[in-house]
Amino acid sequence: MINNHPNTQFLTDYAAGALSIAPLISITTHLQFCDPCREAVSGLNILGGELLADCDQAELSDDLLAQTLAKLTAPMETTPETQPAVGAADAGTLCPELANQLPKYLHKFLNHHELEWRALSSTLSVAAMSVGETDYELALHRIDAGGKAPVHDHKGTELTVVLKGSFSDEDGIYHEGDFLVRQPGDVHRPSATLDQACICLSVLSAPIKLTGLKRVLNPFMRFNPS
Ligand SMILES: [Zn+2]
Repeated sequence: MINNHPNTQFLTDYAAGALSIAPLISITTHLQFCDPCREAVSGLNILGGELLADCDQAELSDDLLAQTLAKLTAPMETTPETQPAVGAADAGTLCPELANQLPKYLHKFLNHHELEWRALSSTLSVAAMSVGETDYELALHRIDAGGKAPVHDHKGTELTVVLKGSFSDEDGIYHEGDFLVRQPGDVHRPSATLDQACICLSVLSAPIKLTGLKRVLNPFMRFNPS
């Protein structure tokens, strides 16, 4: 049962194409779990289409169609970042643990970038995902079964989608598909349930700050835009 959803502003920005890649991925991931939000986005798209139909028509150059078709058929420029590594395996072999848990569209981001899990504490790990984002860090966080993440507060906004398992904090318990927004100044300590690990997709707009004695871990949680 999903109890936490993106607000209307998020869904409107998503439908209007106004989100950058990392927040867009977090909304798309939630939509894979959530029928009501998919229906809401569908309604917003219909509304957007009707608004466009009511707009005054603009003058277009005679060769605009030809220019557009030329761009669509032009060969893609490849860079070391976008070019597949020789011998790169598919997502299924790169991360069998996650291949069935991540939305399928995320697999393409993993094809050429094997996840590297870094331990942030004895029960919390993080794996950054490179998607060409400059303003946010996109990552997976994993809390082992029964584990607690260190108490931390947020300097920036964090979007979280629960991919597998569930976790709780001072405000409630969150299940697969739940979409959470943490605002600057929020302090919390997530804990996974005892029966299984919890894996979340997270989008971070600024570093989070550990509180208390765990401050020593802070350098490991630095901001890493991808
Ligand atoms: Zn929803």
